[in-house]
Formats: sequence, C-alpha cells, structure tokens
Amino acid sequence: MAMIDDLPIRDDLKGQSPYGAPQIDVPVRLNTNENSYALPDAVVEAVAEAVRAEMRDLNRYPDRDAVGLRTDLARYLGHGVTAANVWAANGSNEIQQQLLQTFGGPGRTALGFGPSYSMYPLLARGTGTRWIGAHRNPDFGLTPDVAVAQLKEHRPDVVFLCSPNNPTGTALDPAVIDAVLGETKGMVLVDEAYFEFARSGTKSALTLLPHHRNLVVTRTMSKAFGFAGGRLGYFAADPDVVGAVQLVRLPYHLSSLTQAAARAALGQAPALLATVDAIKQQRDRIVATLRERGTKVADSDANFVLFEVGGDQKRVWQRMLDRGVLIRDVGLDAWLRVTAGTATETDAFLAAITNRQ
Ligand SMILES: *Cc1c(COP(=O)(O)O)cnc(C)c1O
Repeated sequence: MAMIDDLPIRDDLKGQSPYGAPQIDVPVRLNTNENSYALPDAVVEAVAEAVRAEMRDLNRYPDRDAVGLRTDLARYLGHGVTAANVWAANGSNEIQQQLLQTFGGPGRTALGFGPSYSMYPLLARGTGTRWIGAHRNPDFGLTPDVAVAQLKEHRPDVVFLCSPNNPTGTALDPAVIDAVLGETKGMVLVDEAYFEFARSGTKSALTLLPHHRNLVVTRTMSKAFGFAGGRLGYFAADPDVVGAVQLVRLPYHLSSLTQAAARAALGQAPALLATVDAIKQQRDRIVATLRERGTKVADSDANFVLFEVGGDQKRVWQRMLDRGVLIRDVGLDAWLRVTAGTATETDAFLAAITNRQ
C-alpha cells in the first residue's frame, strides 16, 4: 500500500484495499454465489455459434446501444417492460457504477442498509460519492419505520435496497420499498440479483416501475443464469433513466461478443434456469439441517445461506478451507455465508461444518 500511496493518487483512495473475495482452487467453492452447474451442451453450442457469427465483423465497433440485447432482456423480464426501459452493461456492478456516475458523484451521497452487498460502498468510493452506512433491524430484517427514519436523517441522493439481500438472504417486504419511495426524491436502486431464487409469491419491484420515475431495478445473469463469466448485468427503469445513463457510459462498453453470447444464452433461458429448483432445494436443505443441529440460520430467498458459528468466524472459515470447502466471511462477527450448489457440494459442506469443533 505504501508504494501505491507514493503515487499522486486521489487522497480518498490512499490506504484503501480493493475488492478481494479469495479465488482459491479448492474442490468445493461456495464463496461467491456462482451457479455451481456448468453450462449444458446445448447452451455451449448456441453461444459458440452466436460468437462465431460475430467474428468477421470484429473490425467494426459493436452496437453501442445494444438494442437487440435490450429487446431480449425486456422480453425475459415481462411486466410490460420494453427495450426503452432496459439498459445493459458488463455485470450489474458496472450498471450500479454507471448509476452512481449519473446520480451520485462528488458532493452527493448514497445510502445502503447493512449488512448488505459489500460492493456498494466500493462503487461509491470509486465514483467519489459519499457513502452512508445505514443499518437493518437487529434480526437482519428491514422494517419501513427503521428505513424511513434513517432516510429522514440523511436525505441521500441514491438509496440501495437489495432484495433478496446479500449476505443475509431474505427478500424485502414490498412495504419497505413503498415506504422508501414515499420518503425520498432521490434514486432508489433495488438490486434483484437473486430474484430468480426467491420463494414463490415474492413480488418483484418491477411491478412498481410504472408509478416511479426514480426507481431502478437491477438484475444480473451472473447467478441464476450461471453466466458470471459472461459479465452481463442490466436494469429496468423509466426510459429517461436509460437516457441519463448514456451520458456517462463509455461509447462501446459492451463488446459485440458479449452481446451475442448473452443473447444466445437468453434464447436458452429455460435450459439455463433449469438448475434453479435444484439449487433452491439444496438451500432449503442447508437451512433445515443446520437448524436441526441447533445452529441459528437466516431465512433465505437466495442461493446462499447465512449461519451463525460458535465463536470466531475467521477461525471456522480457515478450518473449512483446510477441509477443502471455501465459504465466505462477509465481515459479520460470528456469522459465515455459504453458497447453495450441487447436492454433492452440500454433502461436503455439511460434513465439514459438523466436524469443526
Ligand atoms: C453477485 C451480486 C451481483 C452481481 O454482480 P455482477 O456484476 O452482475 O456479476 C449484484 N448484486 C449483488 C447483491 C450480488 O450479490
């Protein structure tokens, strides 16, 4: 760090560390909520064919407005959403960065309710937006009164809501989103990265879009679609929000290969999403098994489970790694997070966590 700080670097970056979820090559990797299933052959073929068809035209810049891809994404979302409502980028992290570049920035603030996604404060830092770490209820839930009181106190320009919330797992009560939208004129970002895993009956914030120009719902193909390596995130919002974000995006940010691969993958959505039910089963099995053993576990609408460990989570994390099972220390005292993957991975996780004492 001292070496970096010797450079004429921005003062607010001095002494800081980058995002760094460990990428360690162990047999069981359950730390970044990836989909554990490799892409089915039919999808591999479709994506390869689509990418190949783009090759000859790589001398040309891609469609910088990605209209074909946005049309396909709108069709997938439903809820009356059209291409004019949708914007896409290299992962929803880039989507959120573009939104902060547009609606945050120097002299402005962004607020999130922790514990939540660790990238929000980092994206705020990178865009010069002041981060306000508001808090959830002690049981990791978030009630309208607790959310609104903190909005009244801080009056942020941008509010992050994550539903289902990472790392705690539960979807937000729609009453919270309503209350937040009723309280702020700032932009409200609802991150639905894990929406496809939510328990049935969970309402998407997409249903609220027609009534709120300051609402943005972000999604990703990194989780349920098993397309994390493809880097494709997107949002749905009022068409003017799409227009506003175009002021800050780089001219050709989404390569023609990415656009073609993502469109081909979307065309195979049923095959890709076929793993979602199996993953939800493993999630519910992890929750039920840990609870039977007397472990405290947060309810989950996602493809991961947050559970309490007896004592220092860093030690338990290391012991699990020593047993070949990589899980996630999200920086929450006495809690760890595990991704739900295949049945075999659940077996390995449950065996390793049993023997930890
Ligand atoms: C994994 C995750 C994302 C996805 O990020 P991508 O850049 O799309 O891979 C977004 N939000 C949350 C809360 C996540 O956990």
